[in-house]
Amino acid sequence: MQGASPSFRSGGVAAADAFKSLAPVIDPMTADTAVVWFRRDLRVHDNEALAEAAADGEVLPVYAFDPREYGEREFGGERSFRYEKTGAVRARFRRESVADLRERLRERGSDVVVRHGRPEEVVPAVAAAVDADVVHFGALPTPEEVGVENAVRTRLRDLDVTPARHWTHTLYHLNDLPTPYTDIADTYTSFRKSVENRATVRDPLPEPDLPTAPVEEVGAGPIPTPEDLGVDEIEYDDRAALRFEGGESAGTERLDGYLFEEDRLREYKETRNGLLGQGYSSKLSPWLNEGCLSPRRVRREVKRYERERVANDSTYWLLFELIWRDFFQFQFAKHGVDFFRRGGIRRRDDIDWREDDAAFRRWAAGETGLPFVDAAMRELNETGYQSNRARQNAASFLANDLRIDWRRGAAYFETRLVDYDPASNYGNWAYIAGVGNDSRDRRFDVVEQAKKYDGDGEYVTHWIPALSDVPPSNVHEPWTLSEQEQAEYDVQLGIDYPEPMVDPEGSYRTPR
Ligand code: FAD
Repeated sequence: MQGASPSFRSGGVAAADAFKSLAPVIDPMTADTAVVWFRRDLRVHDNEALAEAAADGEVLPVYAFDPREYGEREFGGERSFRYEKTGAVRARFRRESVADLRERLRERGSDVVVRHGRPEEVVPAVAAAVDADVVHFGALPTPEEVGVENAVRTRLRDLDVTPARHWTHTLYHLNDLPTPYTDIADTYTSFRKSVENRATVRDPLPEPDLPTAPVEEVGAGPIPTPEDLGVDEIEYDDRAALRFEGGESAGTERLDGYLFEEDRLREYKETRNGLLGQGYSSKLSPWLNEGCLSPRRVRREVKRYERERVANDSTYWLLFELIWRDFFQFQFAKHGVDFFRRGGIRRRDDIDWREDDAAFRRWAAGETGLPFVDAAMRELNETGYQSNRARQNAASFLANDLRIDWRRGAAYFETRLVDYDPASNYGNWAYIAGVGNDSRDRRFDVVEQAKKYDGDGEYVTHWIPALSDVPPSNVHEPWTLSEQEQAEYDVQLGIDYPEPMVDPEGSYRTPR
């Protein structure tokens, strides 16, 4: 957290017992006025917090743009560093998502109060203004979010308002796990088998009928501008895989488009390692992470697709990936701040991490001289999105070849990704860096990977125009070009495109 606030990432908040009390905490008959505090569940469909509030009586939805989520902040603890928490692309996505939520609520006769302020100030103030009995909200498993929730609950308690916690972010409900979340397996396969065999996914909840919101008592409030938030206003980049527009409306459209209109799901398992274009994977992650889409809704649509079109390995595989997402959510509930330590949940202290600012900056800017890594980083910088394959390679290069503190890379992704989620991001980074849920060496040979997944060089030349005349046989290893070939292909190494920053003939572990 910025300024004087504690950094929940540096330790202190143990998540271990944070979710024990998700049982209903109010008798619905006793609440006349309910506030719904929207967090990363910006949707009307399958939203338990909204649905339960609507069963109570008067409902006032509220959303707070937390100033601590924007601007520079410190990654706390030993060897701390500074980074920007939310970059322009995700800030745009979030603003659009809240605007869409407001529109959808207004269409249903309700509204959402929007404020630019800390939730622990905004939510209790709104609750007090309308004399609410209860505040419904979704609990999130990651330490910072738990910290914010605790601060809100403390203030609500002072006001004698009941906090009603719900679980809205995962496919499997926390209360339906076969074991307490504190006992779940730390390996994905065991976790997946346990939920597949011993748990069921609840049906998505229908959209509730909403009463008119008593919004005039506090004023609806404008959605903050990028300037208010302190982020840049940016245009959509035409080269992006997809135009990621925030909101439940656009998310639902993408889900329907990918599955039914374009009929892509039948080949997902074969195409999911793709690098270019909108169709190789679902691209649902930004909507899932801001909560514009519920994973249970996605599953329901996959099941419908299986009934109406085809059921095959690909249709199953999308659900398999959604279980990966769940896995990291529950892992963070279990391990909390340990995930943000350099040695990770394994507390490894045998890796010799390097401090090298200049090397980090080259990686971040896409100037390493390794085209596959550079294309991935340029795509991220320009659009906020990267395929899973590109993420794995970019992350592995930083953590396993340059051996720079993996958390700096993860924090850079945190700034840039349109689909950033704390558990998915830091969980995947830790995994690749060898300090997370897998003890094996997760290093990727980025040149081999490039040849395998971008054999024709289309991806690298899309993002690195300086290499566009280089033939596929050389494009992933431009350092092999003779001076004559460089002249022929119109690229001069060291001028138009960097020399590699590691020894390409060596183990890749030797920074130059
Ligand atoms: P699809 O292939 O269509 O998958 C469907 C959904 O499954 C995704 O939308 C996502 O919700 C989930 N999913 C797929 N793979 C994973 C995975 N490995 N871990 C968790 N969930 C997964 N994903 C994020 O949503 N947010 C992040 O901040 C994030 N950071 C990552 C950082 C690194 C270093 C790596 C290697 C992966 C990261 N991922 C993250 C996982 C994955 O790369 C993205 O979910 C995926 O690329 C999003 O594109 P998609 O929606 O088309 O995925």
